[in-house]
Amino acid sequence: MTLSFQLVKEQKLKLQFPSDLFINGNYQKSISEKFFDNISPIDGKKINQISFAQQADIDKAVSSAKEVFQKGYWSNLPPGQRKKILLKFAELLERDRLELSLLDTIDMGKTINDTYNADLPTSIDNIEWYAEIIDKLFDDISPSSKDYMGLVTKEPIGVVAAIVPWNYPLWMAIWKIAPALITGNSVILKPAEQSPMSAIKIGSLLSEAGVPDGVFSVLPGDGPITGKSLCLHKDVDCVAFTGSGEVGKLVLQYSGQSNMKRVQLECGGKSPNIIFADCHDLDAAAEASAYAIFGNQGEVCSAGSRLIVQKEIEDDFIDKVAEKSKNMQPANPFDPNSFAGAIVNKEQLDKINNYVNIGREEGADIKVGGNIAMQETGGCYFEPTIFKNVKNNMKIAQEEIFGPVLTALSFSSFEEAISMANDTEYGLAAGVWTKDINKAIKASREIRAGTVYINNYEEGVDSTIPLGGYKQSGIGRDNGYQALDNYLQTKSTWIKVS
Ligand code: NAD
Repeated sequence: MTLSFQLVKEQKLKLQFPSDLFINGNYQKSISEKFFDNISPIDGKKINQISFAQQADIDKAVSSAKEVFQKGYWSNLPPGQRKKILLKFAELLERDRLELSLLDTIDMGKTINDTYNADLPTSIDNIEWYAEIIDKLFDDISPSSKDYMGLVTKEPIGVVAAIVPWNYPLWMAIWKIAPALITGNSVILKPAEQSPMSAIKIGSLLSEAGVPDGVFSVLPGDGPITGKSLCLHKDVDCVAFTGSGEVGKLVLQYSGQSNMKRVQLECGGKSPNIIFADCHDLDAAAEASAYAIFGNQGEVCSAGSRLIVQKEIEDDFIDKVAEKSKNMQPANPFDPNSFAGAIVNKEQLDKINNYVNIGREEGADIKVGGNIAMQETGGCYFEPTIFKNVKNNMKIAQEEIFGPVLTALSFSSFEEAISMANDTEYGLAAGVWTKDINKAIKASREIRAGTVYINNYEEGVDSTIPLGGYKQSGIGRDNGYQALDNYLQTKSTWIKVS
């Protein structure tokens, strides 16, 4: 279905806003009757009040997740049956695609074009991909002596807490819950407090698809209470986390303080995007470079936030990126033609604005943007911003801004480009643009990052290829076969053959 502004407006009027916890197959209020306000960054207005999960709710969800896991209603189902149920879930997401897209747009401020045409289709694809592979995977038999047979089999780990951020509310949740559920685990989803509604909604969709009660719960709440209690819970066997490195480090500590639960982390980035002067299509590179930082308002973990350009093309190339940014301004998120929407909340908007002021004080020059936008709406918007003459040791080149702010640096030699690219505590992604295949392969090998894009930036990304970080960008991977291992134990069985 092609979206029209009129259709979006009509659907918005019919929307119901989910607000409760989802535990053991039922929506319910927090036992302590605590709530938090849910504010839309589109206009700064309150959407609804969300039930706030506290310790008693967490204990209840974890105990039903553990009980159903032990009874095997889901964990012992043949993979082919779990597959059918998750394929049904994918169909239900397609059925409710516009509703879910609107919930994420209203909660988080991103455009309906992004939620409807990117987040929802990719989430559905991710579920289908994991559903389709699970009954085609085999375990192993060891090449041991004739007197023994060694089996290496995989088993679900148990109760998984999935703690996710707000930048792609549904999509980031699906990256955890699709592989965790398909491998037979019970899953407790804690959405970000800024964007809980689509997560709450999928509780009922998973039940409708046939997932047994207790296997999937949703616990909205904040980090310090709800997130922390889940991470410290002794009956949670694994925390799959996406968010900031700062909180990722806390999650590792909570694991050590409780039961040594497995921790998978997808954290932040400050990804380099290197443009060599011999790039075959500088216009395409400029378009992609602008998209890599201004798409999703720059609120992207793998955003190409450090543009590293060879000196001889520096001025021309930055002019091109600045030109492209003119079509990437924020506008009404409900209009399907808008490129960018609102920044998630006032706190994040202030953070972005503060970094722009720091960049000015550090001596970098603003090429375009640099201002808060659309203040008349009451919402949170920021102009696409490009800093020139940046040094790699400046704060704006080292710290994750998580907004539409590009820092442009320049280099003279291949070695200097790679050294600059690697001079960061992060290692999530990188881009390399050159027509010299040898240079591209050498750069890809030398850059310390989980993903390297050659002559594109994030264009072909799908569920098949793992995504994750080197260094302080994380531990483990989402997507691909590799993500299944986050949620599986390896069992070795020795059988004596007599
Ligand atoms: P955040 O770390 O503030 O929050 C992420 C989640 O952790 C939220 O659900 C939050 O409530 C929870 N949380 C906060 N404090 C906690 C605590 N003490 N204990 C347990 N849970 C806690 O991050 P954010 O602002 O929501 O998201 C932005 C960050 O996410 C950026 O750094 C971005 O790069 C990163 N991110 C990474 C990826 C990736 O795939 N690598 C994808 C998306 C976002």
